[in-house]
Amino acid sequence: MRDRVTPLLSEAQIHARVRELGARLTQDYAGKDLVVVGLLNGVFPFIADLVRAMELDIDVSFMQVASYGGGLESTGEVHILKDLDRSIRGRHALVVEDIVDTGLTLFKVSNLLKDREPLSLKICTLLDKPSRRKVEVPVDYVGFTIEDHFVVGYGLDMDGKLRNLPYVGVYHP
Ligand code: 5GP
Repeated sequence: MRDRVTPLLSEAQIHARVRELGARLTQDYAGKDLVVVGLLNGVFPFIADLVRAMELDIDVSFMQVASYGGGLESTGEVHILKDLDRSIRGRHALVVEDIVDTGLTLFKVSNLLKDREPLSLKICTLLDKPSRRKVEVPVDYVGFTIEDHFVVGYGLDMDGKLRNLPYVGVYHP
């Protein structure tokens, strides 16, 4: 499968950008009670690097969601496969995602989390594909804005595989 991947973002580029994001988050959340909410599965390498670049005392908790009716672009409600093990009520929450594509997943997750009354709710994504957006979601922190490619690696999968590539590349079926 790896032979079908053309490199897009190198390990060095990713790590430099993640350190920059971590430094910004360290400033923005200084002195605040923050829960970092990771959306599984694709977020695991990004969030591991990102939280280690944040010089703050934070909680890290994970959530896994799926859309009813199969495809992520289906219109049904978001279905929680795994919920947070921390309360976000009265605390600052930062949702961390691997990639924002149509925006539907984050739109639904944001609404669900807002009902839990956090003090603030912001979104951080490694990759953003704005040309594919179907619903408006305010993305506060973006690692890289990319063209409409199907990308894999650094957490992003093709049929469950290639998440462990240390870089991000374009997959050619
Ligand atoms: P959205 O709800 O924004 O359309 O989709 C977000 C989810 O779709 C991501 O968390 C990811 O699982 C998947 N996705 C969107 N674009 C890509 C892509 O280019 N590559 C991979 N591997 N997954 C993607």
